[in-house]
Amino acid sequence: MTVIGIDLGTTNSACGYWTEDGPKLIPNRLGELLTPSVVGLDEAGAVIVGKAAKERLIDHSGSTVAAFKRLMGSDHKIMLNKKLFSAPELSALVLRSLKEDAEAFLGEPVTEAVISVPAYFDDNQRHATKLAGELAGLKVDRLINEPTAAAIAYGLHQKQEGTFLILDMGGGTFDVSILEFFDGVMEVHASAGDNFLGGEDFVEAMVDALLNELQIEKSSLDVRLLQTLYMQMESAKRRVSQMDTQEILLDFGGEKIRWSLTRDWFSRVATPLILRSKRPIERAMSDANLSPAQIDDIVLVGGSTRLALFRSTVGRIFGRLPSTHIDPDTVVALGAAVQAALLSKNSALDDMVLTDVCPYTLGTGVVNEDSPQQGLYFLPIIERNSTVPVSVVRRLATAADNQTELQLEIYQGENRLVKKNIFLGQLNIKIPKAPRGKEEIDVRYTYDMNGLLEVDVTVVSQNKTYSKLIQRNPGVMSEKEKEASLKKMAALKFHPRESEVNRALIAKGERLYEASLGDKREKIAAILSQFDAILDRQNVNEIKKAQLQVKELLESLDSEDWL
Ligand code: AMP
Repeated sequence: MTVIGIDLGTTNSACGYWTEDGPKLIPNRLGELLTPSVVGLDEAGAVIVGKAAKERLIDHSGSTVAAFKRLMGSDHKIMLNKKLFSAPELSALVLRSLKEDAEAFLGEPVTEAVISVPAYFDDNQRHATKLAGELAGLKVDRLINEPTAAAIAYGLHQKQEGTFLILDMGGGTFDVSILEFFDGVMEVHASAGDNFLGGEDFVEAMVDALLNELQIEKSSLDVRLLQTLYMQMESAKRRVSQMDTQEILLDFGGEKIRWSLTRDWFSRVATPLILRSKRPIERAMSDANLSPAQIDDIVLVGGSTRLALFRSTVGRIFGRLPSTHIDPDTVVALGAAVQAALLSKNSALDDMVLTDVCPYTLGTGVVNEDSPQQGLYFLPIIERNSTVPVSVVRRLATAADNQTELQLEIYQGENRLVKKNIFLGQLNIKIPKAPRGKEEIDVRYTYDMNGLLEVDVTVVSQNKTYSKLIQRNPGVMSEKEKEASLKKMAALKFHPRESEVNRALIAKGERLYEASLGDKREKIAAILSQFDAILDRQNVNEIKKAQLQVKELLESLDSEDWL
């Protein structure tokens, strides 16, 4: 049975599997390798995923949602047609669609997967991703860090040994990793990142700067106009590296404004974000104790690394340009597919070993006698960038006379004070009465390859152990909630695969129709009504042929202009 590798991206997702010729991507039902991570409900309450949903983002913004990966691990819910969805539920719908596509392509049931996550995802976010897999009916064999996946795919592809710097900037996150591939062992030396820096931030900055220049209040624009503006800035951003100036027709409801977007303008707007991306690069380099000259290759992952401004900044830091011959959009899914094959012990891959690191420091709080008003000090137990799996024990003593209870608080972060770090959970421990410092406890933290933390506390004098697998996470459901969620998902309506292709086409046609005028509008209307008539006849072969024609016609009309 095939275990698939999935890149569950903020903007797009992809999946791959292992073949005799190495990892390969699995096309979705539309024959495309990338499935937009967008989910919606139609008027009849049926679920729409991927491209068809993406086409509806503007016109049906109340029932369509994108970029929910950013909400993984939080308890934020999203309302679609009066139904509330959590980020894992929405992700599950994308995963389920990928699973179905893989099953159709491979011709067998797919029940297990390796899913990639940003290296900087914390414990909550990892749990949420695993949960999304379960809700989609997939056993998640392993969560793999995205940069690690990229390095595996790259290392295998190049059959090259050496030290790699992986820079991964997608729609919502930025990850930096340093890996060494030597003698069949892929070792992660350091990883760092920014969970809130990605392609969408550039678009946000462009929209804000533009509205600021034109002295238009964002809140004064209606949702549709604002979303159109976001889409225009998104496509302008994708072209900015190739075009010095772009003419854009802006519509703020009243008069239309013709506006020239120059590369210089973009550089000014984007520079603060580009500067932010330098911080994790520097941190990973110093954690790995390496100088730029010791990096053999720089590998780019994620759509946002296509920005020339980003590439030249990286070029300036390292004195050479990054490698660009591997597609940054699909390299993670390929690496996840290799990891999937490694786990299912595929013989072609026997001699590759993978090590990873814990991307953040895990510790506990200890009494701060110097300035108690500041709260507890953070005592690191597992230091960031330790190779995993890792298990570390530290012995602590009681802080007060006759203390009979101890609350061990578990934190993740890099700050000296616990209040500035992320609280993960706590363990309550009973201790025999004794003068302060007399009773001791051993605190053991174990962090595994999936990024799950296990805490064991042993009261030394009694040899009694209290254990906790960190689970008290917002956004992560109890078994009961999980059941309810599964029921809710089962009750959602799903369309047969044929009709999803049609939906994507019709949604695209409708969007184009709305965006066009005059002759072009009529042409689109004619194409759509002809297509409707063919669909009504329900002849599979005729529909297939028509799909191709409609696709081509709409694409050529779409590329006529890009307003
Ligand atoms: P991912 O999450 O890896 O799919 O990344 C998608 C992100 O890459 C989105 O924010 C896109 O806007 C961005 N992107 C894709 N192509 C380009 C491009 N040519 N130039 C700049 N950004 C791009």
